[in-house]
Amino acid sequence: MIKLENVSKIYQTANGPFQAVAPVHLSIEKGDIFGIIGSSGAGKSTLLRMVNLLERPTSGKVFVDGQELTSLSPKELRLARRSIGMIFQQFHLFSNRTAAENVEFALEISKLSKMERRKRVKELLHLVGLEDKASVYPSQLSGGQKQRIAIARALANRPKVLLCDEPTSALDLQTTRSVLSLLRKINQAYQVTILLVTHEIEVVREICDKVAVLENGHLVEVLNLSDPPVSV
Ligand code: ADP
Ligand code: ADP
Repeated sequence: MIKLENVSKIYQTANGPFQAVAPVHLSIEKGDIFGIIGSSGAGKSTLLRMVNLLERPTSGKVFVDGQELTSLSPKELRLARRSIGMIFQQFHLFSNRTAAENVEFALEISKLSKMERRKRVKELLHLVGLEDKASVYPSQLSGGQKQRIAIARALANRPKVLLCDEPTSALDLQTTRSVLSLLRKINQAYQVTILLVTHEIEVVREICDKVAVLENGHLVEVLNLSDPPVSV
């Protein structure tokens, strides 16, 4: 579902070029919940943002659902990005829009009629358990509720891939668990492939099938967490 071939990122900084991500090869299967773990500054966010080309790789090719994103025109890329949802640590909701309007915003570019949009928004709010918060503004929502609305918005165009950048790092333990369990439910119900960046091993343990370990921009290990433990 996601394939990175030789993907790297060099930032130009005041102190000269800085390699944030060394050339990476990575293959993520459809339906996986795939983690990327590493300490702060390891390059996790950069790597994640290269999957939907929010960050342009310095080298390499990015494939999502069989399509090479790195070869698309800006117009084709806008279209392809509809099948890639994204959520963030700080939720990134519009504070001047209600919960329902935040979700509906993602549908503005879609071909759905007004009525179909309304119906889709209602279904999505139901999916994340917040139908009763439709007309509430983000400032009146808890952190966990904000992230649920952000998840609903990210799913509005029924993406095949959901990118999650530290989705629970601003949340307490109990809220973290419930948001992770919502992500798992979405993964199982719609076979949405999830790529999740975190610095917390507990998050990986709780939800990921596989995990890649990133250190100083280098992908040092990929572990399959569903393998049975080796007996000695
Ligand atoms: P992580 O998500 O693992 O904390 P990031 O991908 O955010 O790591 O950053 C990796 C490295 O790249 C860090 O050293 C960071 O300071 C640097 N970096 C990130 N974005 C930029 C940028 N736009 N310009 C220059 N350096 C950057
Ligand atoms: P329909 O097109 O008749 O709504 P679907 O089988 O496409 O039927 O969807 C059934 C339900 O699943 C709907 O509530 C829809 O919102 C939800 N759904 C389907 N695919 C996704 C997806 N990728 N992300 C979020 N919700 C989805």
